[in-house]
Amino acid sequence: MVYQLSNVSVNYANQVALNNVSCTIQEGKWISVIGQTGAGKSTFVQVLKGLIPSFDGDYLINQHPIHRDNKGQLMVVPDIGYVFQYPEHQLFETSVYKELAFTPKLSGYSHQQIDQAIDLILPKVGLSKEILPLAPFQLSGGQKRRVAIASVLMMNPKLLILDEPTAGLDPVSRKFLLRLLKEWQQQDNRTILNVSHQMNDVAEYSDEVIVFHEGHLMAHCDTSILFLEQ
Ligand code: ADP
Ligand code: ADP
Repeated sequence: MVYQLSNVSVNYANQVALNNVSCTIQEGKWISVIGQTGAGKSTFVQVLKGLIPSFDGDYLINQHPIHRDNKGQLMVVPDIGYVFQYPEHQLFETSVYKELAFTPKLSGYSHQQIDQAIDLILPKVGLSKEILPLAPFQLSGGQKRRVAIASVLMMNPKLLILDEPTAGLDPVSRKFLLRLLKEWQQQDNRTILNVSHQMNDVAEYSDEVIVFHEGHLMAHCDTSILFLEQ
């Protein structure tokens, strides 16, 4: 899969969130998205997921324009997983099991398929089955994040978008989570777009870096160009 934005601009009232951004996301890479608060990072990844209903410019996946429905709304793009910055924004169910089963159930998975997928995904985010009956509010911050990520991985996305997945985690949990995500990404040539403020992590885990400043895409390059001592 190749995701391509061409001259994309997004405006909110009087605020330009993205200014004429062109960018190609190739598969099989871990790409970090960096820049100051308000630079446009979240807006950029939301355009890719199809969460921004109206923007100027074009969005193509494998050369095909992403269609809009008859109200002009973008179709939410399949095969892209999106993990919100705060897990509380996506954990709604009364148990971890129901949380993980929610989207597969909507997509018509059988109970058996759901249970198989859960067995497969839990170890990938470092969780055990004992957690399944617990309510999200009973979990630690790190566990909540891992459940939020696991629920997105249930649908086996090709591209995983993470908006600061390790914010608020201690260094050990952060490293643990990033290692697991790296393993997941390296299987089957998957792609991760990771919005991050942690420059050490950016240097250690990403193949490419995209830099935003005041809505402009300032640089998109191999990580080795930015961090000399790799
Ligand atoms: P970042 O993720 O780099 O912090 P954002 O993409 O969230 O940046 O925001 C880019 C700009 O757009 C900021 O100036 C922000 O205030 C503005 N913005 C983002 N979302 C909205 C919104 N829903 N309504 C109005 N302005 C917004
Ligand atoms: P719903 O009410 O939405 O149908 P349930 O909570 O009744 O969902 O669960 C549906 C199925 O999921 C049950 O048949 C059960 O086998 C399985 N299930 C529910 N909770 C768990 C759990 N903690 N561990 C494993 N399987 C579970």
